[in-house]
Amino acid sequence: MIAEPQQRPADWCDNAAVMTEPDFRNVAVVLVNTSHPGNIGASARAMKNMGLSRLVLVQPKEFPSGVAVGRAASAVDVLEQAQVVKSLGEAIADCGLVIGASARSRSIPWPLLTPEQCARRALAETGRHRVALVFGREDTGLSNEELQLCHYHVRIPANSGYSSLNLAAAVLIVCYELYKAAMPEDDDGAGTVEREWDQELATGEDVERFYEHLERVLVAVDFHDPGNPRHLMQRIRRLFGRIRIDVMEMNILRGMLTHIEKNLKDRG
Ligand code: SAH
Repeated sequence: MIAEPQQRPADWCDNAAVMTEPDFRNVAVVLVNTSHPGNIGASARAMKNMGLSRLVLVQPKEFPSGVAVGRAASAVDVLEQAQVVKSLGEAIADCGLVIGASARSRSIPWPLLTPEQCARRALAETGRHRVALVFGREDTGLSNEELQLCHYHVRIPANSGYSSLNLAAAVLIVCYELYKAAMPEDDDGAGTVEREWDQELATGEDVERFYEHLERVLVAVDFHDPGNPRHLMQRIRRLFGRIRIDVMEMNILRGMLTHIEKNLKDRG
């Protein structure tokens, strides 16, 4: 029989369910002169995925648009609330920090941020004033004049032979970095298993009892000769040490071993 898994402690909870979403109401994504309405829709979707909702469109070629709605999927609300304005100057009039996304380096060097630095800077300032993340046209990007309206430029590192991303992909990356930066400090994923797994992890004691049980069974089925072990148990320890085995998985393995033992006994 496979033993029932232990109950989770009462205070164990799904991280995702209790995590409060960051507040990005002060951050606007500004799209300048977008040609393809599909890119507007896909940008709206990318924004909502990353918790942003303020979209400002500077003279879009075609908007409102059914194509944009189609590409926005469940982010139609972002499109519906989008503000359409006549110039970049108007879009950023109430912003204290303006960061322009550009794939190319321009003739006049400007303070240049990586997407991670852009996220940190934006986050540091959202409490104080509005922040604008500005993206350019699909064909020609942002003009020099528009780039000069920005405090900083952000460049997404990419293949030097082809570094120009699709507009919505660029929006996604910049917003993703912002979202990530707003999350509580992570320990490079090292703690992910403990926090996000649906089962408790097996304790050291559970695992020791499993190794003992496994060794007994391997001896009983003549697979393992303790007189000539050839590092078998060490190798098995190393194998299971590479995975973080949980209580349920441990119970399944122990259940298998118990069944093997019972069958051996029944067959006499
Ligand atoms: N051909 C244009 C790029 C247009 S891509 C040019 O050479 O400038 C549309 C927009 O997506 C760009 O204006 C910029 O805002 C953003 N974008 C695309 N690739 C990017 C990158 N590698 N880094 C930063 N922004 C980028």
